[in-house]
Amino acid sequence: MTDKINHEPVKVLDKGFVRLVDFMGGDQGVVDAARVSYGGVSKGAEADKKLIGYLLKHSHMTPFEHSVFKFHVSAPIFVARQWFRHRFAAYNEVSFRYTEVKDDFYMPSTWRGQDKKNKQGSSAAIELDQKALHAMFKTQVDAALAVYKNMLEQGVAREMARMVLPVNLYTEFYWTVNARSLMNFVALRADTHAQFEIQAYGEALAKQFKALMPWTYEAFLRDGWKGENPTIAAEKAALPVLQTAAR
Ligand SMILES: Cc1cc2nc3c(=O)[nH]c(=O)nc-3n(C[C@H](O)[C@H](O)[C@H](O)COP(=O)(O)OP(=O)(O)OC[C@H]3O[C@@H](n4cnc5c(N)ncnc54)[C@H](O)[C@@H]3O)c2cc1C
Repeated sequence: MTDKINHEPVKVLDKGFVRLVDFMGGDQGVVDAARVSYGGVSKGAEADKKLIGYLLKHSHMTPFEHSVFKFHVSAPIFVARQWFRHRFAAYNEVSFRYTEVKDDFYMPSTWRGQDKKNKQGSSAAIELDQKALHAMFKTQVDAALAVYKNMLEQGVAREMARMVLPVNLYTEFYWTVNARSLMNFVALRADTHAQFEIQAYGEALAKQFKALMPWTYEAFLRDGWKGENPTIAAEKAALPVLQTAAR
């Protein structure tokens, strides 16, 4: 546990958030786990930071599994579906069999066009009529919610009525993930090849990771991050040059 925990939710998209519930280990947890292999103890901050850089550079990844984050996340279902593909984590999600759905839908601020080269991607499209698209979309979402409520009034079970709802509905889940798996998530999902919406979560998580494990985050930027993201690229470019030992 640490007293550095900020429990305030960090807003993501229009209504989503990432909230750190608990945290264990930190950079020191990684160092301690690595040194236990040979019965060693901390040799001071500089040596410990260097050790973390060494471990990551040489893919000695298990010490990073001893530092653990527990997040409470609110994300649209289509984002959660991508998120849940990351198997090295623990998940518990709200049940819409148990609770009634509220008017809690993701409404994108801008509609993107289909990318011409990347079949999975999207890009800015000035030809799209944003206002008309937004109105059409809202009509559809409102109608789906109205049918859902009508079905519940008629006595239909929540587990069945929910089938009419679109995947932009927000869901909530607890996500407990170790630093190794979090790095994998950030590497894949903060990257510009990931869908914009999950990228926003990847970036929010990268910031929390940086705040709580600054040495590991720096090592990750140096040797773990291979992706594209302008903010992370700028952070990486601003890192101090490492002093190499004279021969
Ligand atoms: C841009 C992008 C596009 C994608 N498109 C698609 C798509 O079109 N269709 C689709 O189905 N998925 C898609 N995915 C999801 C992707 O294939 C992964 O399922 C997801 O990113 C989780 O990554 P992961 O397996 O590394 O994470 P985790 O499941 O957390 O696994 C972490 C690591 O553990 C190891 N590992 C886990 N399980 C095994 C195993 N069974 N055997 C060996 N090693 C294992 C691997 O090293 C893995 O990287 C996409 C992901 C991204 C980022």
